[in-house]
Amino acid sequence: MTRRTAPAAPDDALDALVALTLRLSAVPAPTGDEGERGAVVAELFADAGMVVGRDEVGNVLARRPGDDPSAPAVVVSGHLDTVFGREVALNPREHAGRLLCPGVGDNTVAVATLIVLARELAARPASGTPVVLAATVGEEGLGDLRGAKHLLRTVATSAFVSLEGHLLDELVVGGIGSVRLRARYAGPGGHSWGDRGTPSAVHALLTAGAAAVDAVPEARHVNVGVARGGTAVNAIAGEASLVVDLRDEDEARLEETTRLVIGALEHAPAGIAATVERIGHRPAGRTSDRDPLVRAARAARADAGLRPAREDIGSTECNAAFPLDVPTVCIGLTRGGDMHRESEWIEIAPLRDGLAQARALLRRLGVG
Ligand SMILES: [Zn+2]
Repeated sequence: MTRRTAPAAPDDALDALVALTLRLSAVPAPTGDEGERGAVVAELFADAGMVVGRDEVGNVLARRPGDDPSAPAVVVSGHLDTVFGREVALNPREHAGRLLCPGVGDNTVAVATLIVLARELAARPASGTPVVLAATVGEEGLGDLRGAKHLLRTVATSAFVSLEGHLLDELVVGGIGSVRLRARYAGPGGHSWGDRGTPSAVHALLTAGAAAVDAVPEARHVNVGVARGGTAVNAIAGEASLVVDLRDEDEARLEETTRLVIGALEHAPAGIAATVERIGHRPAGRTSDRDPLVRAARAARADAGLRPAREDIGSTECNAAFPLDVPTVCIGLTRGGDMHRESEWIEIAPLRDGLAQARALLRRLGVG
């Protein structure tokens, strides 16, 4: 890893980014419960001098018109939510060149970056392409990209740039698709001996779950992540449920796998009601190598003094853009570790390049 020496002059934007990251990190934002953090972000956007709005799902949007206010906007997003519940102690802090806090890199620093960009944009007269900075809800867990999907349905978007804290050395140009299913089995239950012969929801779950795993052709991905059911060793289970994750780089293949798995999960013996619902879908897709957005993202790295990125596919907010044919990339802001763990940390020094990259990308996309 090459380290550049710090500039002699203090970097106000970097200091501001660190302060904002620590401030936002202290506000809990579990998936589905992002309102408190969203309110702080709305206030910070407004203080920056942006026109601020909150949409029906809880996304916080800061808009800046360009030369033609009716033109589609460049949308830059950072998700508000973290994987941590309200019971997790946050205690954000700076130590030895790092910021430490659950969720600090995924994705609080990205939301803080949106605020820094808002301040910089608001300080100059609006020109060029319109831009929308969006702090979004529902990226993690079973949030199902609720925020990004709604945003892309409601804001005319020429390019969708997602920011992620940890991914400075990567450029995400494609998305692994995923489908999440929940299967429920319900029966009459009863005493294990006294009511013998009564169908069991857990037995139905075991049979259907095994059939679902077997139904998937080799080299395709199925993961039964959660299996629950029953209440006691001497009771016939009246209820059981499974949560299943399917993934594929190819959307059509993912749909085919989904049909096979649903068919297997819906199969239950007489007396057991089986219901299968889709509880999530992150569409697969890829932005073309030759797309102007991908070229701009590569050039922005060079502008910021960063080495060419590892170009990769991931599971990010970009997935929401593929079915709409909106060009999309996800760029990173720094390096760190322990993502999705309470010991999560990020490095402060690389944030300078990460911020420079984001600024350069906006410039290259015509945001004046
Ligand atoms: Zn994230």
